[in-house]
Amino acid sequence: MPSPAAKRVSLAELQRRSSRSSRDIDEGATPTLRDLAEALSFSPDDGRIWLNDQRMVLWRSSTFGSLRAELIARLGQEQARSLLTRVGYAAGARDAELVRRTWPDSDPVNAFHAGPQMHKLGGIVRPEAIAFEFDIARGSFHADFWWHDSSEDDEHIAAFGLGTEPACWMQIGYASGYASAFMGKFIVYREIECRATGARACRLVGRPAEEWEDPELDQHYFAPGLSAAGIRRSLAGPAPAPAAGAAAKPGGALAAAGSGQSALLGISSSFSAARHLIERVAPTPATVLFSGPSGAGKELFAQTLHAISPRAGAPFIAVNCAAIPDTLIEAELFGVERGAFTGASSSRAGRFERAQGGTLFLDEIASLSFFAQGKLLRALQERRIERVGGSREIAVDVRVVAATNVDLRAEVRAGRFREDLFFRLNVFPIALPPLKERRDDIPLLMEAFLRRYGEQYGRRVAGFTPRAVQALLQYDFPGNVRELQNLIERGVIMAGPDEPIDVVHLFRGGEIEAPQGLSPGPDGRLTELRAPGAGVATTPPAGEVPARAGASAGAEDYLDALLAARYNVAAAARSLGLSRAQLAYRLKRQGLL
Ligand code: ZN
Repeated sequence: MPSPAAKRVSLAELQRRSSRSSRDIDEGATPTLRDLAEALSFSPDDGRIWLNDQRMVLWRSSTFGSLRAELIARLGQEQARSLLTRVGYAAGARDAELVRRTWPDSDPVNAFHAGPQMHKLGGIVRPEAIAFEFDIARGSFHADFWWHDSSEDDEHIAAFGLGTEPACWMQIGYASGYASAFMGKFIVYREIECRATGARACRLVGRPAEEWEDPELDQHYFAPGLSAAGIRRSLAGPAPAPAAGAAAKPGGALAAAGSGQSALLGISSSFSAARHLIERVAPTPATVLFSGPSGAGKELFAQTLHAISPRAGAPFIAVNCAAIPDTLIEAELFGVERGAFTGASSSRAGRFERAQGGTLFLDEIASLSFFAQGKLLRALQERRIERVGGSREIAVDVRVVAATNVDLRAEVRAGRFREDLFFRLNVFPIALPPLKERRDDIPLLMEAFLRRYGEQYGRRVAGFTPRAVQALLQYDFPGNVRELQNLIERGVIMAGPDEPIDVVHLFRGGEIEAPQGLSPGPDGRLTELRAPGAGVATTPPAGEVPARAGASAGAEDYLDALLAARYNVAAAARSLGLSRAQLAYRLKRQGLL
């Protein structure tokens, strides 16, 4: 038997395999155009059209045209373009996820090419690849397409005639969203020729965001409600502790914003809605209440709200109410006078006073005791506080922003939270979605954290392996953005120099378990269940273990099995015909665990 070292696949070999181009397209390999077409089913009796498990609609191109013309008339060309670009981006990212989920074993070239094919199937445009080349592990990407007979151009030309600007906005968004989700990094397409300007066909070129020379030129279309100037301002703005040089980097608006400690990053519709709300409320003094699960970015939103408000020049003071013992919370919030209690050897200001003129962020507000809630209510109503042990009232001009990860209404009903305080706080509620409901944002966040931790630890990391991208895009992230951030930080530390981050660098604590809808096929691999009505893979009888597996398997086989089992070591071991301990030992010996 060859030594494990000999079996281990060299990095150069993996990279050679991971670099793929349009020359490798195999028209007969899954998913073919026919496979994609078969995923589409019409169910006229109950008024449904399905693309696998996603409901679709069939509507007139001219209906889209009217909606689009109306948007341009109502919002102006820039806003309408931005909106359509983002809607297209979300659709592209979703299609990439659908392809990955439905054909998990397809060759990366065909999986990538499925994006343009789905556009063709949808009757939107007829893409023709001129050339594309990508390497997921190294993060390199270049694509060049002819875009024939775009429906968006037809509608644009019908409504506005020929012009000087390209018009395939939603399709630029779609192509960028598909490629970004596929690559696990932010890819931006540009339309360098367009039929709406009189060209014979449209031509789309895609590159990683940071490789475009003048990134603000089109990236602002991907950011909700922000002009290019606005993005530049927010990069240079007073938000606390941006990573050194982040604003000066040619990494592009969104990408560079992500490397700052405090930049909000996202493109999904739910994220955009929340972002839009803070932009609306920021100029006012209104109290804001953020709700959402832990790790969803409530403090980051609160910081951004402060940074774009007229109070930006004054302090932002954060208090985690759950972290301060009940006996001390009053002194923390309102300050103490010397001698007020044992240990109060000098007078000091509380958080309210320290936030004077600025913003006070009260996180985990529901954990305040009933007593402390009463004190806080008084401060909010009267805009005056009294230090503990003091007799003097101090006027405070503070905007209060609160956050909760529990349902405050339910707390009120249960008698644990004062109703009057709830109504004081619930002036402008903003709900932040869990990360699994904004998966479109994962590629942007992955790249931003990769860059941040690469800089922080002085490591050059090559990017992510395809299976790491796949794992991150499928994972449920119970810990939300914070968990993703932790995983990437861990990956940056674990991966070797110039080595792409792989699943074994990311998931070491058994985070991933086999999701429902997977079942082992006859070859020992787990197979994604098809949409309702499609074939279901069955469990092979015990003993029918594939001959290639087990003792003779190499590092790659182990990794494949781990991937197929969603990094559940026990399940991977079963599929290889090994015990869990045997597989764990082999993985360790090969430096894979
Ligand atoms: Zn066009």
